[in-house]
Amino acid sequence: MTNQYKLHLLHTGKVRIEPELAFGGDHASLAKASGFSLKRSPKIWLPVSVFLIESPHGLLLLDTGWSRSMSPKGEFDKKAQIKSLGSRILYHVNQGVVPYGETASEQLAQKGIQPKDIQAVIISHLDCDHDNGLEQFKNAKRVLVSEEEYEYALKHRIRFYKKWWSDLKNLDLYQWNDTEGPFKQSYDVFGDKTVKLINIPGHTAGQVATKITNPETGKFILYVGDGGYGEKSWKKMITSGISMNKDWQKRSLEWIRKQSHDPNCKGVFACHDANLEPMTIEF
Ligand SMILES: [Zn+2]
Repeated sequence: MTNQYKLHLLHTGKVRIEPELAFGGDHASLAKASGFSLKRSPKIWLPVSVFLIESPHGLLLLDTGWSRSMSPKGEFDKKAQIKSLGSRILYHVNQGVVPYGETASEQLAQKGIQPKDIQAVIISHLDCDHDNGLEQFKNAKRVLVSEEEYEYALKHRIRFYKKWWSDLKNLDLYQWNDTEGPFKQSYDVFGDKTVKLINIPGHTAGQVATKITNPETGKFILYVGDGGYGEKSWKKMITSGISMNKDWQKRSLEWIRKQSHDPNCKGVFACHDANLEPMTIEF
């Protein structure tokens, strides 16, 4: 019997940030993490990963990465980015580039997959590098965003630009209907516990980890978005520099670490882990 659960990790360009943003720890200053401090560190380039999941419920896409509008010519383009991000401030905090053929939708097209074939696009949180590509997924069956994240984003207009999602007719704002996770707030997408979106607040209020479990084997994978910037985040409990609540962030990291030690865990993945290469795993 062929395995019905597969994860494909795709790299969809890169993001450039201050190192403190990713691994600033408990005493990071927001100014330094955002690049507004006079004491600048050399910036780092990190991958922007998305995950295509094959499951009996159909194809799922975890986050979208950048839109083609960030790099209309496939190369770094400051003017285009400021327009795509809707703000010079956001451009200052993070820059991006996505070569030709490497946006999420372009890579899916190479596999013969159209946006309409995607059962659900699952957004971990609403920061630009996770949903700026949504304009390419207007025809996906639905786009799942937690209502808590949506409300949080509407209140923080400097960080979030509603144009990234406001045109969508397939936006599905969900409320917690289940109690898994560090704050006992989760959403069981199909009502059968195979796909759970688990609130891991700290980086934002409504960020979710996506836990996908094969009910026949009990094996699962966990995608944590920016709940950590790499394995060392949860191994060594290193919080990121942009944080709305350090205690929440640590409680979420603690939970991620516990999940990673579960013998059924086939992998914990962050969006910007520089040590991860494109891959496919079955679970
Ligand atoms: Zn990110």
